[in-house]
Amino acid sequence: MKVLISGAGIAGPALAYWLQRAGFTPTVVELAPGPRPGGQTVDIRGVARDVVERMGVMPAIKARQLHEKGLAYVRANGKRAAALPAELLDGAGPVAEIEILRGDLSEVLLAATPDVEYLYGDSISALSQSDEGVWVSFAGGTTREFDLVVGADGVHSRVRALAFGPESEFVHHLGGYGSYFTIPAPEELDGWMKIHTAPGGRWVGLRPDHDPRFARGLLSFRSPVIRYNRRDVSEQKALLRRTFRGVGWHTREILDGMVAADDFYFDSTSRVVVPEWSRGRVVLLGDAGYCASPLAGYGTAMSLVGAYVLAGELVASGDHRRAFAAYQRVMREYVVQRSALPPGGIKLAMPRTAIGIRARDLMTATMTSRPLRGVLAKAAAAQPDAIELEDYAGLPHQRSVSLRSVEW
Ligand SMILES: Cc1cc2nc3c(=O)[nH]c(=O)nc-3n(C[C@H](O)[C@H](O)[C@H](O)COP(=O)(O)OP(=O)(O)OC[C@H]3O[C@@H](n4cnc5c(N)ncnc54)[C@H](O)[C@@H]3O)c2cc1C
Repeated sequence: MKVLISGAGIAGPALAYWLQRAGFTPTVVELAPGPRPGGQTVDIRGVARDVVERMGVMPAIKARQLHEKGLAYVRANGKRAAALPAELLDGAGPVAEIEILRGDLSEVLLAATPDVEYLYGDSISALSQSDEGVWVSFAGGTTREFDLVVGADGVHSRVRALAFGPESEFVHHLGGYGSYFTIPAPEELDGWMKIHTAPGGRWVGLRPDHDPRFARGLLSFRSPVIRYNRRDVSEQKALLRRTFRGVGWHTREILDGMVAADDFYFDSTSRVVVPEWSRGRVVLLGDAGYCASPLAGYGTAMSLVGAYVLAGELVASGDHRRAFAAYQRVMREYVVQRSALPPGGIKLAMPRTAIGIRARDLMTATMTSRPLRGVLAKAAAAQPDAIELEDYAGLPHQRSVSLRSVEW
């Protein structure tokens, strides 16, 4: 079976890995001209840990793991206003037990699929399905036939737009935008993620990198929908420059670093809800089909688990209709559970007023104070994932896989 996967982010290569193991022939088409580095740390939580164990990539992930100490809210003068240490919430808070830079995870998955065909710098321009297969036209001018097509091309999925309907039907703006990029570290972070909140609902942040000379810059702000060109990075950088002008702490160095950054990422904080994940021979995976936004912290976990279940059901049923239905049935409760936003959502995390910021810091400091720590830990304790991984006979587990190097 020839399967075309659109998107070489996290979900795409994870699915390609399993499909190839099971004897399918996956091809991955990626819009970017090469593997995309960048992003901050992402979380591998709950059942997703079992998936990466079964893939045999856990040793590689552990070798690249970043050990963050927690999240600290800092004032404009750099003084700490409140902090959420990672160990207090036992990995269930904003810093999870296994944190890895998104670029590192992507590299591990690409290195674990050396024999998969990756088509970089291209994308699907048209799809036409029949009982026999799907004819795919590529923007680069070629046309090929596949048995199945998988949309793993993120929140703004092209496959979803072509086979399911316009983005406005499925993507719900949650009231903010976020940007991540690598910069020279303006201060020693000592393992802490630091966030300065400025009035207007603006977050300026730094997260550690493996190399202490560098940091991951973060700029987020609350806003209704903005019209901008998603392909025009200079327009997005100019927008951020305007939005963060005059903010204190390290904002100036972060903005200067952003201008030179070559791994710049900018997107809206959005949720994706698609009632039916498949249309005939086309199916959605990861953010393209179900995305709870970075606020929920489970996007990467759901992609990895989704890739395993989709491949497993394809192998188990031998018929794509039954497999797609089973994939959604098995995943549904877990996706609903892990799409829940933290209490207060974006409004509590990113207050608009100076009073709101002080109130959030005071609340965080009170909740993490010695007498109340136990109560907080209990309230935040991770509930077990609402899914049990099946052992699909056609998807043999690996203890570890050898990785080939990836050219960035
Ligand atoms: C560069 C980058 C940095 C990120 N950083 C963070 C972060 O710091 N924190 C966080 O929580 N989440 C981040 N995310 C999102 C996070 O990776 C996902 O929420 C999650 O891992 C689910 O992965 P996914 O594979 O479904 O989607 P994604 O990781 O978004 O991957 C989708 C892939 O599809 C590609 N694509 C898009 N359109 C097309 C098209 N028309 N044709 C072919 N390919 C296409 C994209 O280039 C991308 O490689 C980032 C995503 C990207 C792309």
